[in-house]
Amino acid sequence: MNRAGRRPEKTHALVLRSVEFGESDRILHLLVPEYGRITAIAKGARRSVKRFGGTLDLFNHLRVQIAVKRGGAMSRLEAAQLVHHFAPLRHDPVRFGLGCYLLELLDRLAPDGGAARDMRRLYRFALDALGTVAAQPLSPALRTILELRVFDALGVRPELRRCVGCGDDLGREAALGFHVADGGPVCRGCASRRTGVVPVHLGTLRALDQALTLDAERLGRLSFSAQALEEAQRLVGRFQRFHVGVELQSERFLERVLPAGGRVAGPV
Ligand SMILES: [Zn+2]
Repeated sequence: MNRAGRRPEKTHALVLRSVEFGESDRILHLLVPEYGRITAIAKGARRSVKRFGGTLDLFNHLRVQIAVKRGGAMSRLEAAQLVHHFAPLRHDPVRFGLGCYLLELLDRLAPDGGAARDMRRLYRFALDALGTVAAQPLSPALRTILELRVFDALGVRPELRRCVGCGDDLGREAALGFHVADGGPVCRGCASRRTGVVPVHLGTLRALDQALTLDAERLGRLSFSAQALEEAQRLVGRFQRFHVGVELQSERFLERVLPAGGRVAGPV
């Protein structure tokens, strides 16, 4: 047996999900800068304060020793030390709701391994996004921008500048359509050959494009017109549904504390 593959390595991890398992273990979904999303077991986690220091909670940024196994097998978390715990996410229901929602999106969509540079960028994004949720004034616009930025970080960024049908520049056509399955806007001609086109204005696409490139610390100051926000919420909501496919557990709670256009059907 190749034991080299099992030797614990030192790295960092962000806890995406943490559930009790058996008498004293914990199963964790971790985002790790070298590997993307991995599943790991922490043996004796609920007993060993020395090895884990009671630090295996959601949102925690940890320094870890971990024996990583690939190909869907369970990795083994040997030890963890807390680096940062994003305290405001635990005390404010709106920050908590948005934080849980972003983690669930990452947990659902982050790949199990990938190009090292992409995995490191995704990890950096996740820490920055939680930092934004912990520190910035929250608004429905910021929620929508962060959702879009999660997709961007995961490599499923929508096209916002060109028609996804013919590749043409969107020019000056103010009223356009957005085709979710094709991942971007369509000009009038291409829209006429498709079904399920969501109406959108050029100004909304430009605002979203800007929101993807802005520094994280300036995001809280970005403002949308009422029309652009409504369109952006509808468009990002449809995009999320298309890529996730199910209603996320955290979505109903978030919709109650920070609504984005009544996306969740039924009473909340
Ligand atoms: Zn076109």
